[in-house]
Parts: sequence; C-alpha cells; structure tokens
Amino acid sequence: MIIDSHVHLKHGDAAATEYTPERIVEVMDAAGIERSVVFAMSTTTRRAIEMADHAVRRFPERLVPYVYALPSYERPVIDEVREAIEDLGFRGIKIHVGECGLRPYIVDPVIALAGDLGVPCLIDLAGFITTAERLATEFPRTSLIIAHFGRYLCTDTSLIEQFIALAEAHRNVYLDASGVVLTWTITEAVRRIGAERVLFGTDGPHPEPDETSKARNAIRQIESLDISDEEKAMVLGGSVARLLAL
Ligand SMILES: [Zn+2]
Repeated sequence: MIIDSHVHLKHGDAAATEYTPERIVEVMDAAGIERSVVFAMSTTTRRAIEMADHAVRRFPERLVPYVYALPSYERPVIDEVREAIEDLGFRGIKIHVGECGLRPYIVDPVIALAGDLGVPCLIDLAGFITTAERLATEFPRTSLIIAHFGRYLCTDTSLIEQFIALAEAHRNVYLDASGVVLTWTITEAVRRIGAERVLFGTDGPHPEPDETSKARNAIRQIESLDISDEEKAMVLGGSVARLLAL
C-alpha cells in the first residue's frame, strides 16, 4: 500500500496555492496512492485545522490530517493544536521554519506537546542543522520527521550527510524523502538508518509537469533505488503507517 506522507491542501509557494480534497484524491487514484497525509500552511492554525478537518471528513478512508502549528500574536495556538489531536483525531503536527522561525520560545512548546501526545512533527528546517540537532537532543520523546532530508531540492551533499548522520545518532529522527533530488542519498539513508525511518512523500499536488506525473515520478524514484523490495515497500508506506499506527 502506497502512502504519501506529505501533501498540501495549501502550499507555501508565493501564491499559497490551494488544492481541494477532491483534486488530491483524484491525483492519488491516478497515481496509485492509497492514503495521504494532508495539511495546510500559509494560514492560521485555526484555518489550517478547518481545511484539514473538512478534507478528512470528506475522505475519511483516504486522508490523514496533520495540524499546522503557527504561533499567533492574537492568542496562543497550543490549545488549538492539542484540541485538533485529542478531539478531532489529527495524527501529527506540521511546522515550517519559513513562516515562524524555530526559536526555542516559539517552537519548543509544540515539540514538547507532540511528545506528550505521541504524535510526530513534520518539520521543514530549510537546512538549519543546528536547530535539528537541538530538537532531536532535547526532545527524545518526540518523533521528528525532517522534511526533504533537511532542505527542499538540496544539492549540498555535505548538508544532507549531516541530516542522515543526525538520524543515525537519534532514533526519534525520521527523514521525509519528498523534494529530494539527489536520489542516491535516499538509498544511503535506507542503508544507514533503515527503511523504517525513511518516508515517501510527494510534497504535492504539484502542477509541473502535471499533478499525476509528479506523483508517479516520486513513486518511481523510490522504486528505482538500489534497495530490497521489502525496503521499498517500507519507504513507500510501511514506515509512515507504523509511525502513525494507521
Ligand atoms: Zn511541503
């Protein structure tokens, strides 16, 4: 079963592009993806919860929601994040450095809450390895899914190496293979940390070349790896199913 661990109802691109749950499921059907983890960003935590909740009510068998944690000057969002997980059944938390920064006073309460509630944080660090090291060390009970192996479309092999080494050193660190262009680094990660901690994701939907081809290409990238069939199946869905207890 193929499970996409990284899908946007609302993206972080300049236009903050939105996709309806219907369109997301259409792309999943065309690409052969059974289930997808969905979340919104580029909006408030409140609105992101509404969007993901609506999507999952529409397709409860296909979509799995993450709550987007974004601090607010108006009021703390920690209660909203907790409520989404405890009362609405959200299975993880998404955090993006580009929208809120990752200073301890901003991000630590959310990371600690994730550990308390037993849900993972999918976190886009935009390459900030020292922050990743701090979080992995200080919050050993929180599963941290490092988006894009550390940085979106990264071609800096020494930086990717540092993120793989971080996952080697910390059992609570997982690597999200969406947006990874140096395919061999995914093979390298599977060899060093095991397929159980490497997660397939499309970071979709994405219109280039078109939504379905983008998803199919992401699946093919994993299928092309020089690893066993069991490991491929684990990366393509087993690892996130295990992590989220799906
Ligand atoms: Zn993304």
